[in-house]
Amino acid sequence: MTIAVIIVAAGRGRRAGGDMPKQWQDLSGKPVIARTLNAFRGVADQAVVVLNPDDMDYWETLGLHADQVVAGADTRDGSVRAGLAALAATPPRYVLIHDAARPMVSATVINDVIAALKDHAGAAPAVAVSDALWTGNAGLVTGTQDRAGLYRAQTPQGFHYDAIYAAHLVRKSPAADDVEVARDAGLDVAITQGDPRNIKITNPEDFSRVINMLGPDMDVRCGNGYDVHRFGDGDHVWLCGVQIPHGRGLQGHSDADVGMHTVTDAIYGALGMGDIGQHFPPSDPQWKGAQSHIFLTHAVGLARDYGYQISNVDCTLVCEYPKIGPHQPAMKAALAAIMDLPADRISVKATTSERLGFTGREEGIASIATATLVKS
Ligand code: MG
Repeated sequence: MTIAVIIVAAGRGRRAGGDMPKQWQDLSGKPVIARTLNAFRGVADQAVVVLNPDDMDYWETLGLHADQVVAGADTRDGSVRAGLAALAATPPRYVLIHDAARPMVSATVINDVIAALKDHAGAAPAVAVSDALWTGNAGLVTGTQDRAGLYRAQTPQGFHYDAIYAAHLVRKSPAADDVEVARDAGLDVAITQGDPRNIKITNPEDFSRVINMLGPDMDVRCGNGYDVHRFGDGDHVWLCGVQIPHGRGLQGHSDADVGMHTVTDAIYGALGMGDIGQHFPPSDPQWKGAQSHIFLTHAVGLARDYGYQISNVDCTLVCEYPKIGPHQPAMKAALAAIMDLPADRISVKATTSERLGFTGREEGIASIATATLVKS
C-alpha cells in the first residue's frame, strides 16, 4: 500500500500578515511548511509540494526535502490538480491532501484518515461545532442556527488516488475543498475525528496561538567544572577574577585562578567542547602566566557563536583560607563583567572541608562550578 501527501502551499495567505506568505513565515525557529512536511514524515511514501510559481527559487533556499515540487494554479482546485497530475506516473493507492498552513496536524489525525480509507473512497477530519450559532445582520442577532450535524472541516483530506484524480479531471466549477469535489463525483467521504489544535493559520493571531501550543522549544544545557591548584610561594591568590593578599600563592601555568577555571570548564562542558587544557594547552608557552579571563572570554564567545545564552553560573570554592566572604561581591562583579551578564545570574560560594583532606590541610584550593546554557 502506497500513500502520497500533497501539501498545498500555492496561496499568498495575505490575511495572515507579515512580509511573506504564511507558509514561509517562522514558527519558533522553523518555517511553517517545514513543520507541516515533518508531520507526514514516516507516514507518506512520497510528498508533493505545490507552490506558487513565483516561490520556486525561494523554496530552494530552504533546504527542505520533497519528492516533487510542482507549480500550482490561481485556484486551490487547480493547485490540487497539479499535485495529483504529478503523481500520475507512479500512482499511489491513497493520497492525502493537506493545507501547508496546518502545521499542528497530529499523527493520530493522519492515521485515522488513512484507516478510514479502507472502507471509504474518501475520509477527512472534522470537529463538531460546539459553540451556539447565530445568524446576524448589521450588528444584531437575527436568529439562532441549530448546530446539530454541523462540523468544522480540517485537512488532511484523504482519498483513493484514482477516484479523486478522476473527480478533479471532470470538475468544471470551483469547490470549497476536495471533499466537495469527491462528493459531487459520487464518492463517499467518512468523517474522522479532527483535533482543535489542527488549526489553519489564517490571521496574525493564529501564529501566537500555534507558538503557544508548541511551547518553549528550548535547548537547555548544563555543564560542570572541577579544578584544584596547589599552594606555593607567593603573597596573593587570584580567585574568580579578584586578587586577594595571602601568605602563599597558587601554582599553575596561568594565574592559577581555580574558580574562574571551573566556570570556564562548566561552559565548555555544557557546549560539549572540551576543557581549558584543550583550547589553551599548558605545553604552549604563550599561555604561561596568562590571565584567566582570556579563557573565560573564549568560552563565553564560543557559547554565543553557537547561539547559546548563558543563563546562570554557580561556583563553589573549597578552602580554609583565605576567607572568601568579604570578596564575594567583587568576585561576582568581576565574573559578570567578563561574561557580560547581570550579577544576579552569577553565584560565588565558599565552603571549608572541615580541615579534612588536602584543602583542610591547606595544601591547595579546589573549586567546582556549574553553568546553564539556553538556546531558544
Ligand atoms: Mg586550573
